[in-house]
Amino acid sequence: MKSRKDSWAVPERLEKAVYRGRFAPSPTGLLHAGSLLTALASWLDARTSDGIWLLRMEDLDPPRESKEAADGILFALDALHLHWDGPVLYQSQRIEAYQDALATLVAKDRIFPCICSRQDFGNDSRIYPGTCRERLIQPDQAHALRCRVDDRVISVEDRLQGHYSQNLIRDTGDFVIKRKDGLFAYQLAVVVDDAMQGITDIVRGIDLLDSTPRQLFLQELLDCSQPRYAHLPVLVDKDGNKLSKQQGAAPVDVTRPAEALFRALAQLQQEPPDELLTAPTQDILQWAVNAWNPGALNNQTSLREIS
Ligand code: GLU
Repeated sequence: MKSRKDSWAVPERLEKAVYRGRFAPSPTGLLHAGSLLTALASWLDARTSDGIWLLRMEDLDPPRESKEAADGILFALDALHLHWDGPVLYQSQRIEAYQDALATLVAKDRIFPCICSRQDFGNDSRIYPGTCRERLIQPDQAHALRCRVDDRVISVEDRLQGHYSQNLIRDTGDFVIKRKDGLFAYQLAVVVDDAMQGITDIVRGIDLLDSTPRQLFLQELLDCSQPRYAHLPVLVDKDGNKLSKQQGAAPVDVTRPAEALFRALAQLQQEPPDELLTAPTQDILQWAVNAWNPGALNNQTSLREIS
């Protein structure tokens, strides 16, 4: 897992960057105010570190996604001058790599088939109780593949959220690597691709903080290096509800990029001066690169939307 052998590659100039960040949207809808915060914060973090910023389209779940959404996200980022380095990596093109990683986990005796549905989980449907660990399953029974976890604490020092830890047995249970419908799960794909792209720094929403220990666990098993993490507070509306595509959050109006960026910077507590509102998009971004202060978000779990 340590070499980056794929034909996918960024130009040589970029290969040398010490900081390698990424934005990894799932194309389930257009870019909305919440996903813009993640894109902008990770872009700023990369640019202020003289790093590169890669774009990965996490199109692993065709029933929930569309090509229009994927193209729309790229169009929006471009209109906002959040330019990425190198070619876009599409997870739908990476199935072989996930297959290889699965084979490594099988060789380490970490994978078992599971026929359970959520109803079989008992009281807390988020934690898998290990039901199929020792169960004999007929090959023709529809099954998912799960990764057997250990009874130990896994911790991360998040740049924004501080110390965070889980014991996977207690907090998630054995987790899905390949779903019953044959699709690879996010947890595996994200680890394989962060490693292949040589990502050093992950800036993403706090809703993924509780996925991080599972990802650290897979990084260990697959012999991948561990990136640094910064989990951003989530954007909430005036009633405190998370803005998400599922809740029908409105797409960012990319015909007014300056306004969208100004608002996002204000939401990220960067305190942009009012005169920036009428400035050209590039000037706003230049100001933001000079002023970027992720510490303003320390220990915050939510940010109020500004309309
Ligand atoms: N694809 C995920 C999403 O759109 C983000 C994954 C990640 O940043 O690790 O929520």
